[in-house]
Amino acid sequence: MTNTATLLDRNRQFASNFAAADLPVLPKLRAVILTCGDSRVDPAHILGLELGDAVVIRNNGGRVTPEVVHEIAALSFLVAKMDGAERGPFELIIIQHSECGAERFADPNLQRALKEQLGVDVAPVAITDHELSLREDVERLRSAPEVPGHIVVSGFIYDVRNGHVREVIAPAALAP
Ligand SMILES: [Zn+2]
Repeated sequence: MTNTATLLDRNRQFASNFAAADLPVLPKLRAVILTCGDSRVDPAHILGLELGDAVVIRNNGGRVTPEVVHEIAALSFLVAKMDGAERGPFELIIIQHSECGAERFADPNLQRALKEQLGVDVAPVAITDHELSLREDVERLRSAPEVPGHIVVSGFIYDVRNGHVREVIAPAALAP
């Protein structure tokens, strides 16, 4: 059996007791989680997310890239349209993690090889210091004119060895 077949099997099981047809489009927790695609760092598990709780964006390292900035801008625009005059809260929680593959992207030889062979620049997502990366990422959001200042952003590091998330950046509006 292929891995795809295994997963489709699991979906059939999931769909056989499906009870989430009436969930609204806007997530219950009005939160976006940005985290790494690493299979050990699934927010459904580490944060106990249920269906309909939060929007999840995952990429290499859980970094704020230009694509993430565009997604956050588009999402907040959509939420503002749906909220109308009654603007609700909108939180972005960034969770990076220990032993992340993005730390390997910090290797200058790997960076050069990727650039030369594939034309891919991983320097902006490389992680050498987790706390520094989180601060950089919040700064990238703050300096993006398309991201509204009322979004409350926080930053955490998840430890893949003990399951705990540690706060590095306390929740605060981008432009208080
Ligand atoms: Zn990672």
